[in-house]
Amino acid sequence: MVMENGKILEVKDLAVSYKVYEGILKVLRNVSFYVLKGEKIGIIGESGCGKTTSMKSIMRILPTNALLEGGEIYYKGKNILKISKKEMTYLRRHSISMIFQDPSTALNPVFKIGPQIYDIVKYSSDRRLTKSEIHELAISYLKQAALPEPERILDSYPFQLSGGMKQRVNIAMSLASANDLLIADEPGTSLDVTIEDQIMRLLKSIVEEKHLSIILISHALGTVRGFVDRIYVMYAGTIVEYGPTKSIFSNPLHPYTRLLIESVPKLMGKKIPEGIPGVVPSYLNPPLGCRFSTRCPFKMDICEREMPQVYEAEDGHFVACHLFRKEGS
Ligand code: SF4
Repeated sequence: MVMENGKILEVKDLAVSYKVYEGILKVLRNVSFYVLKGEKIGIIGESGCGKTTSMKSIMRILPTNALLEGGEIYYKGKNILKISKKEMTYLRRHSISMIFQDPSTALNPVFKIGPQIYDIVKYSSDRRLTKSEIHELAISYLKQAALPEPERILDSYPFQLSGGMKQRVNIAMSLASANDLLIADEPGTSLDVTIEDQIMRLLKSIVEEKHLSIILISHALGTVRGFVDRIYVMYAGTIVEYGPTKSIFSNPLHPYTRLLIESVPKLMGKKIPEGIPGVVPSYLNPPLGCRFSTRCPFKMDICEREMPQVYEAEDGHFVACHLFRKEGS
C-alpha cells in the first residue's frame, strides 16, 4: 500500500537522544523526510550527523541507550514506531532491508555464507520452501549480485571473501527481503574506490530493475550525485536543506551545503580546498538556535536564539535557514 502522494515512507519530526555517562546527547531534532514509491533519495552530511541513527530508527534497531523522544514514522500508512515486534519483524523479512557500511559486521564469522543466506531466504518467503528451492533462490540472489561461482561462495566462510565480495553477499541477502524499500548506509565507504564504484553501479541497476525505493546514506557527494533523484542534507542531527539532486548541486542554498560542496577536492583543481572551518557542536549541549551557528560565516543574532523554520526557496527546493526567512514569518 502506498500513502497519499505516492509516499511509501514518511518520517515526521523525529527526535532521538542517547543516554551516556556524561549526560544526554540530543542527537536528532525535527528530522522529517519522505520517500516516494520507486524513488531514490540520498541523505548526505559529515560523519556523526545522525544519518545512521535516522535509519536505525526506521528499522527499529536503535541501541538500548537510545531515547526516542518524539516523532512518527509512517511506512505504507502505518506508524511503525507503534506496531508490534511481530509486525516489525515481518516488515524486515518481507519489505524493508538495510545494507550496512562494514560488510563484515553484517555476516556471522563462524558460519559459512550458505546457512546465513538460506535462513534469510527461508524466512522471507510467504510459503514453506523445500531445501532445493531455498538453495536455488540463494544461488539466484548471489548471481543477481554479480558474484561469480555462487556454489563456492555458499561454501565459504566470510573471512575467505574480499570486502567487495562480502558486500555483494550482503546485497544478495537484502534482495531476498527488500521487496519495497532498501536502505544502504555508506555501502561502498569501506571498500577500494574501484570496488565502491562497482558496488554502486550494481545497486543502482538492481534498484531500478526491481523498482525499489532506496535511501542512500553517504558523506561522499560524488557518490550520491549520479544515483539519487532527491537529496536531504543533514547537519548535527537536523535536516538543513532538501530538493531535487540537480537543484542542490547547481544552486546550493544553505551555508553548510555550499561549504560542503566547495570542500570536495577537484581532480583538475589548482589547490586543495580548505574544508569547513570549526567543528560540529557537542550533542551534550547543542546551540539553542541553528546548530550550524557556531561555524556559519553568515550568522545573525536570531540564529543563536531560534531554530530556523523550513522555507521553500524554489520549486521543490527547501532550506532551513534564517537567511531565507520571508516577510512576516
Ligand atoms: Fe547561518 Fe543563521 Fe542560516 Fe544558521 S540560520 S545557516 S547560522 S545564517
